[in-house]
Amino acid sequence: MGNKRTPLVAGNWKMHKTPAEAGNFVKLLRESVDQQGGSVEVIVCPPFPALAAVASKLAGSEIGWGAQNMHWEAKGAFTGEVSAPMLQAMGCHYVILGHSERRGHFGENDEVIRKKLTAAITCGLRPIFCLGEDLATREAGQAVEHCRKQLRAGLEGLELNQPLALVVAYEPIWAIGTGKTATAEDAVEVISALRQEIADMYGEEFASIMRILYGGSVSPESISSFMKEEMIDGVLVGGASLDIDKFTAIIQTTA
Ligand code: PGA
Repeated sequence: MGNKRTPLVAGNWKMHKTPAEAGNFVKLLRESVDQQGGSVEVIVCPPFPALAAVASKLAGSEIGWGAQNMHWEAKGAFTGEVSAPMLQAMGCHYVILGHSERRGHFGENDEVIRKKLTAAITCGLRPIFCLGEDLATREAGQAVEHCRKQLRAGLEGLELNQPLALVVAYEPIWAIGTGKTATAEDAVEVISALRQEIADMYGEEFASIMRILYGGSVSPESISSFMKEEMIDGVLVGGASLDIDKFTAIIQTTA
């Protein structure tokens, strides 16, 4: 890669794996990743009940871990929710926010996502802020504008000084779990526009350090087309991150 950003490969396990399954998986992952010497950063994002098992199996490893969601309030009467300070107290590094499945199935709008991003950053968690267009928006030629708007809405009023404290993931909705990926060219077009927005908000230097990922049906077959692009700083992987062979193949190609 011709830039100074360390690529990030993040596994989004969604609602998969028990604590025992998750623990076994990261044990195998460690054996493969800990030998790589840090040219790529690797993290996994298990469901809440598996976080403790993953944290303990990854103690002392280069591999990081994150959650898939959180509430924006620190505590209170929010049955079923988990807060940023709770995750932070467990040693959690990252949290996926704004995922299209949260937006689509659980009604999370830009305002909710903005509050969550603020709470995560304030607490020292690194959000992986997901955004992306649906198929109708892409076909109408509005993808870039749509993604720019989602970025601005999520970050509005948020003070950021540390470019590594935030990761953005461009995930076109039509590519998630469908086996269809964006072309590297389309991904670069959107990601370049997002980086420009970040430069306008936080300055060129900040934008040159902050990482922007691609996500949506990334596989061992498609990964190299994305990682050839200097503009793409890694990938958010769903389905293929559940399979140790596929996930390690993606990591090896990225490294
Ligand atoms: P997918 O999911 O790789 O299964 O398409 C990506 C994601 O939802 O983050």
